[in-house]
Amino acid sequence: HAKAEGKNTFRFFSEELNNSFRDRIAMEHGLRHILDRGELELHYQPKVSVATGQVIGVEALLRWNSPEFGMVSPMRFIPLAEETRQIIPIGEWVLRTACQQQLLWQQQGIQLSMAVNLSAVQFKSPALIERIAALIDETGIQPENLELELTESALVDKPDDAVRVLEQLRSLGCGISIDDFGTGYSSLSYLKNFPVTILKIDRSFVRDLAHNSGDRAIAQSVVSLATNLDMKTVAEGVEEQEQLEILQQIGCTYIQGFIHSRPVPADQILAVVKRLGGAA
Ligand code: C2E
Ligand code: MG
Ligand code: MG
Ligand code: MG
Repeated sequence: HAKAEGKNTFRFFSEELNNSFRDRIAMEHGLRHILDRGELELHYQPKVSVATGQVIGVEALLRWNSPEFGMVSPMRFIPLAEETRQIIPIGEWVLRTACQQQLLWQQQGIQLSMAVNLSAVQFKSPALIERIAALIDETGIQPENLELELTESALVDKPDDAVRVLEQLRSLGCGISIDDFGTGYSSLSYLKNFPVTILKIDRSFVRDLAHNSGDRAIAQSVVSLATNLDMKTVAEGVEEQEQLEILQQIGCTYIQGFIHSRPVPADQILAVVKRLGGAA
């Protein structure tokens, strides 16, 4: 019996592998035309002040609207785009579109900071600083309104280089967030030297905040670490009132999550800001 099952399992896995290999090739092919076919879209998720309940900014989140694969999650296609280095032109499109959108809202009287995710591949590109400086120039965004989100993994393998690049980004005037903080391998001694403005508490620590004292201790420690290093905090993935109240008690600065809004297309942000208040 075990033998037969083993055989089936093997067949199952090899078909699965075949399919995923086919998907991957097709997706890699599709990625090549993603920009000229206009298949990318940005959605925006509000970031809300815990103290005032007002929307103070948004995070731009990439969506691939593919005629072949449907709406593809960034978790699926960004790793592929990184392997092929397509993430460089894609990331450039994201930055330009997000900056232009920030200015459009500003012209409509809605003042929002714009957070953009940067891939480790973008972060390590020698042209990064030059490109971001050019985009700030070209779009006219005030750099204080632009915040770049990086994960620990983008920063840790060459921390000295990372510090230099982060300092250059800071001297352009941009804010810097460490995304998914607590899930990577950055050590506290690096953190001390990274000129970071925001720590984003990963959703995995927020999920069970109301029922898990360990998660609560971690969230609390991240907030006090950030405060002592003169940084702000964002809690990711807040879905319930109970989580929000705990985050308020421990002094977290901002909150992002479905409790306030899912990421939405640009034209829905005005309604969200009206519903939640603030940002004008
Ligand atoms: P991230 O930067 O940590 O973004 C937060 C993710 O959590 C988003 O997923 C968002 O939709 C989701 N989220 C927000 N609030 C909640 C909540 O209350 N509950 C739950 N369950 N989820 C919530 P999304 O949009 O699928 O993005 C996934 C990841 O893809 C992002 O994680 C980021 O690492 C990457 N990504 C997205 N856009 C870009 C981009 O333009 N460039 C790069 N390099 N990466 C991007
Ligand atoms: Mg992010
Ligand atoms: Mg995150
Ligand atoms: Mg995350």
